[in-house]
Amino acid sequence: MPLNDAAPTGTARPDAALRDAAEALADELTALRREIHAEPELGRALPRTQQRVLAALDGLGLEITTGHALTSVTAVLRGALPGPTVLLRADMDALPVTEDTGLPYASRIAGAMHACGHDLHTAMLVGAARLLAERRAELAGSVVFMFQPDEEGTDGGGAELMLAEGVLDASGELPVAAYALHVAANRLPRGLFASRPGIATAASDTLTVTVHGLGGHGSAPHKAADPIPVLCELVTALQTFVTRRFDVHDPVVLTVGSIHGGTKANVIPGQAGFEATVRSYSPTAREALREGTRTLLTGIAAAHGLRAEVHYRDGYPAMRNTAEELALASDTVARLFGPQRYFNAPAPTPGAEDMAFVLDRVPGAYLMLGACPPDRDYATAAYNHSPQAVFDDAVLPDGAALLAQLALRRLAAVSTAGSGPTDGGQAGSTSSGTTSTAHAGTAASGATGTAG
Ligand SMILES: [Zn+2]
Ligand SMILES: [Zn+2]
Repeated sequence: MPLNDAAPTGTARPDAALRDAAEALADELTALRREIHAEPELGRALPRTQQRVLAALDGLGLEITTGHALTSVTAVLRGALPGPTVLLRADMDALPVTEDTGLPYASRIAGAMHACGHDLHTAMLVGAARLLAERRAELAGSVVFMFQPDEEGTDGGGAELMLAEGVLDASGELPVAAYALHVAANRLPRGLFASRPGIATAASDTLTVTVHGLGGHGSAPHKAADPIPVLCELVTALQTFVTRRFDVHDPVVLTVGSIHGGTKANVIPGQAGFEATVRSYSPTAREALREGTRTLLTGIAAAHGLRAEVHYRDGYPAMRNTAEELALASDTVARLFGPQRYFNAPAPTPGAEDMAFVLDRVPGAYLMLGACPPDRDYATAAYNHSPQAVFDDAVLPDGAALLAQLALRRLAAVSTAGSGPTDGGQAGSTSSGTTSTAHAGTAASGATGTAG
């Protein structure tokens, strides 16, 4: 494959051979995905999923290690030619949701479902490993396959743990780039890849507040220190804080999703509390939230003679796509599938994704892939995380092909140019072109990121 040939025009697909090779894996990848789907596992401990991945990778000649604190799989493919390292990542965990799809391969486990499509990601990455292992002779460097548990943060988040256990050193050197895909059950037409340069998903933190007062009789509040009205004031003050203290061009979201206190109408409780999810896109806004919420909440409680205990817990950081890596990715979509298959999302999403920890350390790109089945309307189909969410297996070969081709092209770009991705510069032209305008309305409201 010539690396510096002209960018495609119209619907030309210069890399169709790789796509065809991926298509040939469709049955195998579908079977793997459905096995994983039927037996979903939550959090850090995914022993059956891990076994399936290890079995699927067996015989490919990879260097494989498994995690200690979590059931991760890290596999390294050494190319025949010298060169740097690229990392490809898939998450593997399910959600605590009871499936309600009626699919023949639906979850057999009550209270667990692959409602975010991570079963597809796992199968796609296995497919990429197969495609790249077959092309070892033309691979100029190493590829690290990162199979990650607990993206959903059930046990606290898996990417950070894999970084702590050395996934970025798996090949012996820091990867020059990292890529990942995420399927969408709705919002995007099937087969459309979508992303954006720069910030793609929000930082997601948790605010936990307890108001400490003094319990008493409901008829005599002056003899007690009632935390309930103070807590209500704190909740509304946070909404004012969000609208008055933050730049509209650097927005934040704060949602109080849980509130608790008291047992009975005539009993003043000794304490009451709430929890909020807090989303932001910039370090400046995040720091202002971290400090500002504490000052505001403790100050209001103190003004009423009560004490507010405030815990602000950092979750996933905002995820940033590197412009050059995303240009390579969108150009690779165009070369494999045609330029109409890539959509440049105008805005980031307030969703969160722990691939952000990887992209904090390594340049890279993260793309969404529409996977709504053809018998549904992607504009109205159930969201990821819904008990009714359905993802089409037909996108599996395309996801595998894109990941594999990204690794091949990124490594070849370095070995020929000695620097970043040099042949992706035409990709900007693929962000509009033949993409139907019907995509834009729904994709604009959050084409990137779904987790958290
Ligand atoms: Zn999710
Ligand atoms: Zn997800």
